[in-house]
Amino acid sequence: MIAGAGQAGARAAEALRSRGFKGAITMIGDEPHPPYERPQLSKAMLHSPDTPVAYIKQPRDWNEALGVRLKTGAAAVDCDTDRRIVSTADGRSFPFDRLLLATGTRPRRLAALEGASLDVQYLRNVEDAFQFRRHIAARSRIVIVGGGVIGLEAACAAAKSGCHVTVIESEARLLARAFPTLISDLVADRHRSHGVAFVFSATVTGSTSHSVQLSNGTEIVADLVLVGIGVTPSSELAARLGLPTVDGIAVDVCGRTAVSDVFCAGDAALQWSRCHGRAVRVETWANAQNQAIAVAANMIGEINAYNDPPWFWTDQYDLNIQVVGDMRDADHIARGDPASAKFSIIAMRGTEVVGALAVNAAKDMAMLRRIIAANAKPLRAYLESPSYDLRAALKAQ
Ligand code: FAD
Ligand code: NDP
Repeated sequence: MIAGAGQAGARAAEALRSRGFKGAITMIGDEPHPPYERPQLSKAMLHSPDTPVAYIKQPRDWNEALGVRLKTGAAAVDCDTDRRIVSTADGRSFPFDRLLLATGTRPRRLAALEGASLDVQYLRNVEDAFQFRRHIAARSRIVIVGGGVIGLEAACAAAKSGCHVTVIESEARLLARAFPTLISDLVADRHRSHGVAFVFSATVTGSTSHSVQLSNGTEIVADLVLVGIGVTPSSELAARLGLPTVDGIAVDVCGRTAVSDVFCAGDAALQWSRCHGRAVRVETWANAQNQAIAVAANMIGEINAYNDPPWFWTDQYDLNIQVVGDMRDADHIARGDPASAKFSIIAMRGTEVVGALAVNAAKDMAMLRRIIAANAKPLRAYLESPSYDLRAALKAQ
């Protein structure tokens, strides 16, 4: 039984079958859609209005091709581990032997805009993307709260379509948590050159029917506010099982929770990360896919430790930025010339490479992901040399 029909749930179901599992698989999702990829919601679907929803499989193929019983529009609300039953909000019960919690995350709400008479929206699902697309087409005046990845990708699409866009960010710079200042500045400059305005060190404190009020005392006219201030794990079902749910659902390296035969993968899972030196929830597409595949194998008796370094990307204008591992509290080594907008930054703690960031440098990133995954320890002096071939670091392993 899989609770949650998103990226992690879908990839787990596929992996169970591809590894030869012949038993019944039920996947329950509270959205009206079969599983789809979310990255397009803030990229292709906003830039090209004809882009269809990126379903992971065509709806009927879940049952016909994979033999997966997919229940959409059904929220799992309770779980009885003695009777091994998951119940849904509409009163149905589904039996299970093993349970995967793949319930993901949902947008953190901005209390100051609850009940606002102004249009306020978030960007997490297909309906949100359609709604934002309509505003872009209408060339609305848009205020975006949160200068994180979602807010900035949305700002990029809106600005390119001729909307008037202002981004309100509570930190003093963009993407402050995961990115070095050099990147914050590069990204901000790109947005400004497309007409996007920024207000830093501020948030929204209130609204009228046609404007938002900011904590710095100013007011901005808006037709729409898009809020992208992070996410919160959907862990209510885990709480029903008695699992602790402080910032996610804790799992071991195999994706096992503290309750026997109950597993978790994807955005909701809190798992040890060597790069971070602590347990983290990794809110990325690659993690939702690969962690789920590994955990599915463990659900059918394999012992498969998952420890891929976290990796994600963002696309804004002509910038493709990819990040692996953790860049914080580390020494940064630059490769290439930042002025060329094609360069990488490698993060080291002591002798360990713990993170890297690549701007329009996908080849570097492919090698750096492998270096970090292999826990290779190239000499710092080598990495500092602009002509050093990163492949050598792996060959030396
Ligand atoms: P989700 O995708 O959240 O799926 C969980 C599903 O379970 C949801 O459908 C939810 O409604 C459902 N559910 C929750 N509770 C219940 C319940 N009790 N019963 C039934 N169903 C339930 N990552 C990147 O690496 N690169 C990107 O460029 C990128 N772009 C993104 C753009 C957008 C707009 C968004 C929203 C995310 C993006 N991500 C990106 C992140 C990536 O999509 C997520 O990390 C990934 O979707 C997580 O998958 P998941 O299955 O864990 O969770
Ligand atoms: P982020 O956590 O990336 O960014 C939110 C930003 O908003 C942070 O800079 C945060 O600052 C700021 N913020 C928080 N509260 C306020 C406030 N009240 N007023 C103004 N600013 C505020 O979250 P996103 O919403 O951008 O992204 C959500 C999810 O998207 C991710 O968690 C992940 O699941 C997914 N994702 C998307 C990708 C993409 O689009 N390319 C890539 C990878 C993941 P602070 O840091 O201080 O909280």
